[in-house]
Amino acid sequence: MTNQCSDIYECHCHVALDGVDYRNARERHRGGPDEAWVRGVLDAYRRAGIRYVRDGGDKWGASALARRLAGEYGIEYASPVFPIFRKGDYGAFIGVPYETVSDLRELVARVRAEGGGFVKMMGSGIMDFDRYGVITGFVPDRSELDELVRIAHGEGLPVMMHMNSADGILRAVDAGVDSIEHGNYADRRALAAMADAGCLWVPTISATVNLMGKGLFDEDALGKILEMQRTAILLGHSLGVTIACGSDAGASCVMHAEASLQEARRLSDLLGSWEPLRRGQEKLRSRFPG
Ligand SMILES: [Zn+2]
Repeated sequence: MTNQCSDIYECHCHVALDGVDYRNARERHRGGPDEAWVRGVLDAYRRAGIRYVRDGGDKWGASALARRLAGEYGIEYASPVFPIFRKGDYGAFIGVPYETVSDLRELVARVRAEGGGFVKMMGSGIMDFDRYGVITGFVPDRSELDELVRIAHGEGLPVMMHMNSADGILRAVDAGVDSIEHGNYADRRALAAMADAGCLWVPTISATVNLMGKGLFDEDALGKILEMQRTAILLGHSLGVTIACGSDAGASCVMHAEASLQEARRLSDLLGSWEPLRRGQEKLRSRFPG
């Protein structure tokens, strides 16, 4: 059993964002994606030895541009172009909204036409890092999730689903999504469902760990959230869930390339081995090719 991480992939990042403030991205890519910025991030991944990157997308075209340029850096880059979110729910800062099923159909067709390799959907809100147990936003109902997965799979595109909460994860797994992102507050049922369905899990613990000790959020709540997620990762692993390393790089305090290495180190220390994570990232790469 080896605990030495090697050939690390980044299975969840946002090239458009800088790990400092998402508003910087809005400025930076205002007139179209900032190529110098995108190249800088790709070069950071190349220098860190990361040869596969999966991006969660953005509405400015940075992720799509990264995908076109990545070959120059020896990187296989998987992009959904932009994430899709339900109008009025979480995701407006980075995604493209839908209201109706026909909007969904149109957006999925657009992802395909613009060279996206998969569909990224915001299925729930985010963590309230000040209050343990609280998630902002709603989970779409089952029929809506079913419809999305049916449309995406019908176009030959796998689905990467941002989802927190045990109920939300169960609903998404039942609908047939290919990966659950974050997946905070997963319980035994949700984890068992993921294992049974062969649904991949990218638990992104660095998005929590890197906020600790910064005076940004309630430290006690952050500690509990991290502990909850660590416990779920161990349980999920014992139940046979395929877990892959993705840091959510670009999110607050999560720096590109550096955080990919942190996430791999943290998860392999937790599981006591890099091997299941190495296998997990290979599975993810084959399901979400660049
Ligand atoms: Zn993300």
